Parts: sequence; structure tokens; C-alpha cells
Amino acid sequence: MEEKTLPIHCMMCNQQHKEGLKLLGKYICTSCERDLVECDAGELRYLHYIFRLRALFSESITN
Ligand SMILES: [Zn+2]
Repeated sequence: MEEKTLPIHCMMCNQQHKEGLKLLGKYICTSCERDLVECDAGELRYLHYIFRLRALFSESITN
């Protein structure tokens, strides 16, 4: 991987990416987005995503 600053900082995996989905002023990279869509309810990582999204939504409501 190249050592340069990429425009997208993914809030899910905390890594820099070339492109991603903007959601409430934050970004989810395309691989995390795909992961989120494909993962099954009940999986641990699904709970992790929901937790992160809930934190994000409550943040945006407060502001
Ligand atoms: Zn990501």
C-alpha cells in the first residue's frame, strides 16, 4: 500500500481509502459498505456496525 494521504477516512475500519460512502458527514469505505450490506444479523461484526452507526446517529441528533 502506498504511503500517501487518501481523501476518505473510514469510520468503520479506521483506514484511509480512495473512495467511500458519505454518511452524516463521515465516511464508510466501499469494502465496509459491502460488508455491512452482506453480513447477517446476529454476527458479532453486525453488532459492531450497528453500535458504530447508533453512535453516529446520536451524534448528529445532538448537533
Ligand atoms: Zn472501511
